[in-house]
Amino acid sequence: MADIKCTVSNCVYYRDLKCHADMIEVNTMDGGMECNNSEGTCCDTFRPAREDK
Ligand code: SF4
Repeated sequence: MADIKCTVSNCVYYRDLKCHADMIEVNTMDGGMECNNSEGTCCDTFRPAREDK
């Protein structure tokens, strides 16, 4: 898998400024198939490292 830089430090897949998931799913914020900028996307593979956070 390609290196994916990530700064979401409370994700269970985050370590040392990188994502360590085998695969990630990125979708648009509105559920459509297109968006105009990075703010319109989100990583749906994110899972909190601790569920009580
Ligand atoms: S799953 Fe998404 S939010 Fe979590 S470390 Fe990977 S890229 Fe970042």
